[in-house]
Amino acid sequence: MSCASKRQHSGKSTYRFRTLSEVLPPPLPALPHAAPEAPPPDLTQWVQGNCGIRGVHHFESHKPGPHIAVTALMHGNEYAGAHALAQILATPLQPTLGRLSLIFLNLEAYAAFDPRRPSQFRFVEEDMNRLWMPELIRSAHSSVEMRRVRELLPVIDTVDVLLDLHSMTWPSATLLLTSMAERNLLMANTLACGQAKPPQVVLDQGHPAGPRLIDYERFSDPTGTARACLLEAGQHWTRSATEQSLLTARIFLAQHGMIPPLPVPAPTHSCVHAMVTDCVVAQTAGFAFIRSFMGGDIIEHAGTLIAIDGMDEIRTPYNNCMLVIPNLRPRRGHTAVRLARVL
Ligand SMILES: [Zn+2]
Repeated sequence: MSCASKRQHSGKSTYRFRTLSEVLPPPLPALPHAAPEAPPPDLTQWVQGNCGIRGVHHFESHKPGPHIAVTALMHGNEYAGAHALAQILATPLQPTLGRLSLIFLNLEAYAAFDPRRPSQFRFVEEDMNRLWMPELIRSAHSSVEMRRVRELLPVIDTVDVLLDLHSMTWPSATLLLTSMAERNLLMANTLACGQAKPPQVVLDQGHPAGPRLIDYERFSDPTGTARACLLEAGQHWTRSATEQSLLTARIFLAQHGMIPPLPVPAPTHSCVHAMVTDCVVAQTAGFAFIRSFMGGDIIEHAGTLIAIDGMDEIRTPYNNCMLVIPNLRPRRGHTAVRLARVL
């Protein structure tokens, strides 16, 4: 016997079904990554930058055109994107139009990275990807990450198209995340469809804890023209995440004339688009998925049981429900998974 209840989380609805039956949660999955598969890159020669701002590498064509940027290391322990930028910087860059910036973002957090404790050092004092709010940037608030945001702002404020490279804690399909502005969906779609196995394109409204770089008003204002999206390249510290970061960054640069054109491969998979509708927050310390879902898994039928949270059952609210970045060991009060409707 069960009855449905609907809880509110940050203005978004989550469907829960209270059960009277005895349900034993499955054992917790093991934490991932006993040891990083790909070692952290040596960024010694890139830390200084070439334009007076640490970690910023800038290239001018001296011809009209957009300012294109690729950013990595927003989170200090997500170094797949840093591998990609270091490899791109290792060959001479000469944009044919406009300007190019390649930026290593949170250098302090990366400098602290310790492979013996790889899950730490996402940031030094606070999550740099929740600070991209003009009022906050102009305020007296201060931290290592806030100071870095302010240092980079003169560059970011002139970028026309930006790709931000990240990776994930748990196994997942590759994702391209965009804010809700249609121009960003088009950008992500073009980037995804340039790949034989396109990343899943996921639209969302950001995080209640604060705006990401891709949510910064320059990129998300409905009346603006600048565009941005965020690549989640796969699981942290895997060789495949590095390869995916490099592939996506190179396709992005080629699409904008920053490097020579690349051959467009025949697609082996179709493009999947989804829109985040619900954020499931763990209400108890006993939250557990019924199996080790992978990010990007699509659950075909509405009402399918996916997790137990205390005495609550968490079921999918609609057919073809995508699980976006499930956290297989969420702490109480933290996001366990976001649910997205496949479009
Ligand atoms: Zn990240």
